[in-house]
Amino acid sequence: MAVDLLAYQQLKSALDTKGTTLIAVSKTKPIEDIQVLYDAGHRDFGENYVQELVQKESVLPKDIRWHFIGHLQSNKVKMIAPFAHLIHGVDSIKLLEVIDKEGRKINRKINCLLQVHIAKEETKFGLDLEEAKQAATTYFNENKYTHVELCGLMGMASFSDDQQLVESEFKSLKQLFDDIKLAHKNAAQFNILSMGMSGDYLLAIESGSTMVRVGSLLFGKRS
Ligand SMILES: *Cc1c(COP(=O)(O)O)cnc(C)c1O
Repeated sequence: MAVDLLAYQQLKSALDTKGTTLIAVSKTKPIEDIQVLYDAGHRDFGENYVQELVQKESVLPKDIRWHFIGHLQSNKVKMIAPFAHLIHGVDSIKLLEVIDKEGRKINRKINCLLQVHIAKEETKFGLDLEEAKQAATTYFNENKYTHVELCGLMGMASFSDDQQLVESEFKSLKQLFDDIKLAHKNAAQFNILSMGMSGDYLLAIESGSTMVRVGSLLFGKRS
């Protein structure tokens, strides 16, 4: 399955006019596919699996901004800490503490998003709205997380054709994002709302997304 360069150019320019960042989700796809988008000028790529990300990072150009968008286990943080541009899936204060510890070891401040569970489905990871609010409060009120930059929130809507349901889930995340931003004077770097995938990115942008994570639309279906 080849990379759809036309779809990329159209999506990229549509998002650029709105100031929305495009993350090209390349999980399970070969490095050749990533190289095609890289050669077209793209730099932000998203991966879900630590081993796969580490392998790809080692062979691809160093100016790629790697986004880790999967579920991150504490014992694997150190493998991506040296280079991850943004970790989207932080779903506990415990994980945030591990990232902070690994960042301190290598003297690097690591950008993170809290993952919030907004979908109806049981299987998706993440904090619920109240837990996310508390985690953000802990981060912003205690000054001890010196090697983590909490940059915003990430969420996934239900995998559903029900537009109203999806929209209401996105809007609940946007509301939480605004509430957290407003509640903390030291949240100047809290600016990223990562929501929207191939099937729902338009709704996500309408609902206030600043960063979309798009895979199959660009790289074709995953097997
Ligand atoms: C796979 C994945 C995406 C991309 O999904 P597509 O439907 O292929 O665009 C986005 N976000 C996360 C967290 C993913 O795991």
